[in-house]
Amino acid sequence: MRKDLVYALTRMLQSICLLAVGAAALAGEPVTPSAKQPELRPAVPGAVRLQLRARVELFKGSGQWNEVTVEEEFPLAQTALLLCDVWNDHYCKSAVRRLGVMVPTMNRLTQVARSKGIQIVHAPSNFMDFYTGTPYRLRAQLAPRAPLPKLLDMPDPPLPVDSSDGGCDDVPQCVYDGRSYVREHVGIEIAGFDAISDDGQEVYSLFQQLGIKNMLILGVHTNMCVIGRSFGIKQMTRAGVRVVLVRDLTDTMYNPRKPPLVSHDEGTRLVVEHIEKYWCPTVTSEELFKKLQ
Ligand SMILES: [Zn+2]
Repeated sequence: MRKDLVYALTRMLQSICLLAVGAAALAGEPVTPSAKQPELRPAVPGAVRLQLRARVELFKGSGQWNEVTVEEEFPLAQTALLLCDVWNDHYCKSAVRRLGVMVPTMNRLTQVARSKGIQIVHAPSNFMDFYTGTPYRLRAQLAPRAPLPKLLDMPDPPLPVDSSDGGCDDVPQCVYDGRSYVREHVGIEIAGFDAISDDGQEVYSLFQQLGIKNMLILGVHTNMCVIGRSFGIKQMTRAGVRVVLVRDLTDTMYNPRKPPLVSHDEGTRLVVEHIEKYWCPTVTSEELFKKLQ
């Protein structure tokens, strides 16, 4: 075949590919990367006052903890909502079922928060490839790098549930099947000025760029990723971010046949209680809907 014909055919194929990429971009699929950070959400005025729950040991060392409610103000421009590992699937079928029940509420809350000007960050860990080149991914990737501050040294007592078996509560236990899930749950809309990242350093950099000081976090699993990821409760709290867990939109990986031998729901409740004692306050989605709508 003549060289110029090969060239012409190659160019034609490239054009078709670019058209396909363009169509995919409209459908929210990956696009060709660009070096420019996509437009950021404008900082909106206004604030919400939220009822937060925490736990205090009034008499230190007594082991007696009291539930306390505190109202705090959150300027909308300085607040983000992060969705932790709301994957489209999971090797544990019970985990999938429990998440499926929460996803519509998670999505509605995300929509309401977005419409009020709260920054949305989607963090489906390990599956950034799916979003390569999208404005959402680039918005996080191209935030000017702001190094994490020296992390605060904080007490880190062990969690109250044993999840050393992976936490699957099915009989027989589900078997890890590698990569059956590749993206965020299809029931969660990604739109507007949203960002996508699974890297705490990147998330922190975006927060610094936008002046964000508060992070509401929801997702799974409370005793694993939500608390332990680089963008999770522990690291962000240690970095000085004011973190709040949305306590009814989370779920543990806990098997009631392991200590402390309580029901799955009680296991989740115990982990939330632990977080309220040592890490951060919590809020309900009901409270957020009430104050944001
Ligand atoms: Zn399972």
